[in-house]
Amino acid sequence: MPTDIHSISTKNTHDRFLLRACERLGYDAMVYQLLLTASREIRLQLPVRKDDGSFVIFNAYRVQHQNARGPYKGGLRYHATVDIEDVRGLACLMSLKTALLELPLGGAKGGIDCNPATLSERELEQLTRKFVEKIHRNIGPTEDIPAPDVGTNAQIMAWIQDEYSKVYGYNPAVVTGKPIVTGGSHGRKEATGFGVCMTIEAYSKYYKQALENSTVVVQGFGNVGRYAAFHLQSLGAKIIAISDSQGAIFNQDGLDINAVIRHKDSIGTVVGTDAADILDSNALLALPCDYLIPAALGNAINADNAASVSSKVVVEGANAPVSWMASDVLEQRGVKIIPDILANAGGVTVSYFEWVQNLQHVSWTLDSIREQLRAKMNTACQNVFELADQENIQFRDAAYQIATERLKEAIFAAGI
Ligand code: NAD
Repeated sequence: MPTDIHSISTKNTHDRFLLRACERLGYDAMVYQLLLTASREIRLQLPVRKDDGSFVIFNAYRVQHQNARGPYKGGLRYHATVDIEDVRGLACLMSLKTALLELPLGGAKGGIDCNPATLSERELEQLTRKFVEKIHRNIGPTEDIPAPDVGTNAQIMAWIQDEYSKVYGYNPAVVTGKPIVTGGSHGRKEATGFGVCMTIEAYSKYYKQALENSTVVVQGFGNVGRYAAFHLQSLGAKIIAISDSQGAIFNQDGLDINAVIRHKDSIGTVVGTDAADILDSNALLALPCDYLIPAALGNAINADNAASVSSKVVVEGANAPVSWMASDVLEQRGVKIIPDILANAGGVTVSYFEWVQNLQHVSWTLDSIREQLRAKMNTACQNVFELADQENIQFRDAAYQIATERLKEAIFAAGI
């Protein structure tokens, strides 16, 4: 066992933030290693018959990081950049996220290395069912509960639920983010974006900044980005620029988010929406604004472009959109970062509500869910802002410190 905390290699952004939290908490190298290490890592090879009769073998991963505070919980990602290192880091982040929000859940993450856009619906279904066929013994309502992430959606969760139910009987609590008709929760689809909006509301109230007429830039217009933009606009913020994988659009007077959503849903991109200029995707990150929300993939803001970010606050809608080095560059330049572990925790919080409803065979109203989500998000924001101010540290360090301590206490209470 290493005795020097710095001799343990840090592979990704989250490892480094966790290391900093352990140092602040006075934990030794053994505790850091324990917190870093996943309980179980599953690698699968999934052969799928293509529509043309040929077959392809896909690599799939599920990393179950910690379950001392509750069953493993985390998204399942379908994307061509999925690899074990990434999934490992994101699984650890989930354990910390559920701890920060005080949800009785652990942390996990999964992914399949594929490009869903190139697969037919039948191929996607077969891939998903094959995944469950191979992993069903290691998931379940009290074991590990997947949810949607990049490239996956409610339909994919419904296939997982159905495949799992063939072995174990009707069991909606095995996944969250399902369609409402198969046991999904009201408010889950928009929960992450809505939660991003709630953290901005909490920040603006706590630091007495007007939200009305504030300017917002959103990178990524998928599940997280679109609902964050929609809710922020309803509170009077001006969304001046939006991008997706095909390009970016800009209007200094504010875009009409309903029109952008209609355009994206009809032709598959935000580019070409009326009353908007086309913008270079890199220039979008450099636009002066009050809030920049990277809500696409990890590492969007990195050592190469951090110096050009001109937002007052960066709100991490995506997981790890700001790299380790960029994070320090931004903070040194006075740019505040509301970290992923807090900003995008609305999704897992409503996933928790969905799981509870499934276990109790009840259905809560949208109003009740939103009220409970707001209470959870406000408490977590308050805890983070207060600790950051008291100790004069970054929001991320405060969030990691609170979560790391809770996780470590649970692991030691359970006994190692
Ligand atoms: P999604 O697949 O629905 O959307 C991703 C969006 O990013 C798409 O609009 C895509 O076009 C865009 N994009 C891809 N590359 C881009 C680029 N280079 N520039 C600009 N846009 C680009 O995914 P999502 O569910 O919205 O997830 C986005 C992020 O949020 C991920 O990091 C995910 O892990 C994180 N997250 C999602 C949830 C959730 O509930 N969906 C919860 C927590 C965190």
